[in-house]
Amino acid sequence: MESAEIRRRWLRFFEERGHTVVPSASLIADDPTLLLVPAGMVPFKPYFLGEATPPAPRATSVQKCVRTPDIEEVGKTTRHGTFFQMCGNFSFGDYFKEGAITYAWELLTTSQEQGGYGLDPERLWITVYLDDDEAETIWREKIGVPAERIQRLGKKDNFWSMGVPGPCGPCSEINYDRGPEFGVEGGPAVNDERYVEIWNLVFMQYERGAGEDKENFPILGDLPSKNIDTGLGLERLAMILQDVRNLYEIDTSRIVIDKATELTGVRYGADQASDVSLRVVTDHMRTSVMLIGDGVTPGNEGRGYVLRRIMRRAIRNMRLLGATGPVVAELVDTVIESMGQQYPELITERKRILTVALAEEAAFLKALKGGTNILDTAVTETKAAGSTVLSGDKAFLLHDTWGFPIDLTLEMAAEQGLSVDEPGFRRLMKEQRERAKADARAKKTGHADLSAYREVADAAGATDFTGYLATEGEST
Ligand code: ATP
Ligand code: MG
Ligand code: MG
Ligand code: MG
Repeated sequence: MESAEIRRRWLRFFEERGHTVVPSASLIADDPTLLLVPAGMVPFKPYFLGEATPPAPRATSVQKCVRTPDIEEVGKTTRHGTFFQMCGNFSFGDYFKEGAITYAWELLTTSQEQGGYGLDPERLWITVYLDDDEAETIWREKIGVPAERIQRLGKKDNFWSMGVPGPCGPCSEINYDRGPEFGVEGGPAVNDERYVEIWNLVFMQYERGAGEDKENFPILGDLPSKNIDTGLGLERLAMILQDVRNLYEIDTSRIVIDKATELTGVRYGADQASDVSLRVVTDHMRTSVMLIGDGVTPGNEGRGYVLRRIMRRAIRNMRLLGATGPVVAELVDTVIESMGQQYPELITERKRILTVALAEEAAFLKALKGGTNILDTAVTETKAAGSTVLSGDKAFLLHDTWGFPIDLTLEMAAEQGLSVDEPGFRRLMKEQRERAKADARAKKTGHADLSAYREVADAAGATDFTGYLATEGEST
């Protein structure tokens, strides 16, 4: 089943059951606490928080999402993309656990001939929150899932909150058993690659109090009106229905892999490391095009910095695969070709997207050239001095003069057998930031731009992207 058909069936199923179909919002979140939309519920947040009255009690959408914190998983696990689409159904004080569970089961297990996705019920495993007996009873008694395929998971996986006072509640997740070729048995609690999570049902039933701790916060009591928020990963379901091994090989992504192999001459499936690079290129180019499509431009802070790092990582991986010249134009066109059917604005905006992407490629190729010279010299000097650690000074210099993100320096140094004095690098970054702040104070002119960039850059380096986006992974 093609991705486009998965989407159509989703929306039709919920529309037939009284849900208002809401188009995807832009990836640029209309929300000061988020840079980018990480989950389908984000556009509905005001309704869940009671800040606005929903126009209808039920809604459904297929929402574009970007999760930067998942960047390290890309290409290594089989199931994480930085861009993906979350299919959702939402109830604002209308149906609750039983309704959500019944709909999910019906849509997943109804045969394809009858409009469902036709998954084998015996391959579906359920998780519920530790003390959520109510959900378990529905799964067992109403749906008929045997007890041995229901597992209980703790706060980290199966309890949802926005990290601030407001609604929160337990989740129940539906996982698909991909079989022994994906590793040991034992259910999703044991092996989350074999038993891949496809659908998360969030039951918003409690009021959360204040408190920073992610796992330990006060619950004030029941919400007066209970809500449902669910999210199913479209690409994950496509991976199962198209019977491919990972997200990057589904219909809408595979053609990007194929384009990248054509541009580099590398064969997909020939070698572990180059396969990871091909998947990174595929994922990151998709994300880049979707971000530029929604109006993000590469820059040194905020969303622009997210885009810059993702795009530069894609280009760098193309070079690892052997590309020497520009590659972005053809990759962008391939992504537009595959995603344009569902997002026609990509086609009408093609020229603008290409212009932005090509300018960033040119800037990066220039930086890469200058930075590589500095790095090579530094590596030779380091080795000559009998050391295996590139100094923090050099990493800082690369960052400062050529905009090398620390992960790029780490990777390039590792290729030449060196590690990097990261603490030293961070110390210099911090000192520079403090100098910038002091300067700004002294001159009483706001050097805000510069220091903001440094903070973002530093935080991003320190935690590999998660620093300033840490809250993104938490929704849904
Ligand atoms: P996982 O545990 O596999 O990382 P998650 O629990 O972080 O997933 P949720 O926040 O519950 O995911 O999001 C709802 C659904 O969105 C998931 O069940 C999954 O199908 C999909 N999804 C989440 N993250 C990704 C991703 N990085 N790439 C593709 N699909 C994703
Ligand atoms: Mg999970
Ligand atoms: Mg989940
Ligand atoms: Mg996750």
